[in-house]
Amino acid sequence: MMSYLSLFLLGAALVAYTWRDTFDPESVRKARVLVTGASKGIGEQMAYHYAQFGAQIVITARREDHLKKVAEKCVKLGAQRVMYVTGDMSDPADPTRVIKHAVDKLGGLDYLVLNHVGNSNVEFWNRDADHVRSLMQVNFVSYVQLAGAALPVLEKSGGSIIVVSSLAGKLITPFVAPYTSTKFAMNGFFGTLQNELAIQKSNVSVTIMILGLIDTESAMNKIRSFTTMTAYPASEAALNIIKAGATRQKEAFYPWFHYFTCLFKDWLPITRNLLISDLTMQKLD
Ligand code: NAP
Repeated sequence: MMSYLSLFLLGAALVAYTWRDTFDPESVRKARVLVTGASKGIGEQMAYHYAQFGAQIVITARREDHLKKVAEKCVKLGAQRVMYVTGDMSDPADPTRVIKHAVDKLGGLDYLVLNHVGNSNVEFWNRDADHVRSLMQVNFVSYVQLAGAALPVLEKSGGSIIVVSSLAGKLITPFVAPYTSTKFAMNGFFGTLQNELAIQKSNVSVTIMILGLIDTESAMNKIRSFTTMTAYPASEAALNIIKAGATRQKEAFYPWFHYFTCLFKDWLPITRNLLISDLTMQKLD
């Protein structure tokens, strides 16, 4: 009879096989890509990786001066083509306009990378429902609008939607009620869309990327005084997102061990409680 050790080793070998890196850079060379929230942070880093892989990129965010600088660097890094379009995702008219602009400029679309995020503080909920409503538009409803407008074009190209989500869309922690709500909504919506596209035998893939704490300036400014958790590099997070999308994974995690954080959160509530007490103690200290 197989011992527990051999079972464990077999399981580990299976996980290692499933998680092996099958990414082929050729699959994104010349690909037509739209990256949202690309003026800084993880979106900016994704633009640089796509550029190095020789993709054709449209980047978007609100600040034109930042987008211009990112676009210039993308050209130096080897992008086939790079263009930018400003758009404010709090304006319900902008998602459709941005998709139309990108599709017109690129002559189609292969990857829609949904990454932008509106500002929200790390604090006790202050009973401001208007902030929740406006954050829902930026972080969630605009994602739905962008995906809806892009789907017919992605159907033609057999393309992909990549959704940048968070551990905060899987785990409930204090001090981030508006943000976590938008990420739970995002995971629910795009998880459902994955299933519906599969039922319809669509050739469009949807990748949901679950990120842990990443060392972007905005995240560090907000969370530095709250937690001792290690923050992982934005450039590596960006590369992992691109690889997960290109290999059409349904759900991917960076850092990888958050797969287990999510797997065990209900089986072993102690892991969840440790995370929460880490945050709570630091806030109340
Ligand atoms: P970030 O550095 O704050 O960048 C946010 C981007 O979104 C910027 O390019 C910003 O550009 C754009 N943006 C903000 N409001 C916008 C609006 N109303 N309309 C259009 N664009 C807008 O964020 P990040 O840390 O890189 O996070 C990127 C993604 O990763 C987000 O979806 C976030 O939830 C997820 N994530 C991050 C972490 C982390 O620790 N950093 C962890 C888990 C998940 P403008 O200001 O120029 O508009």
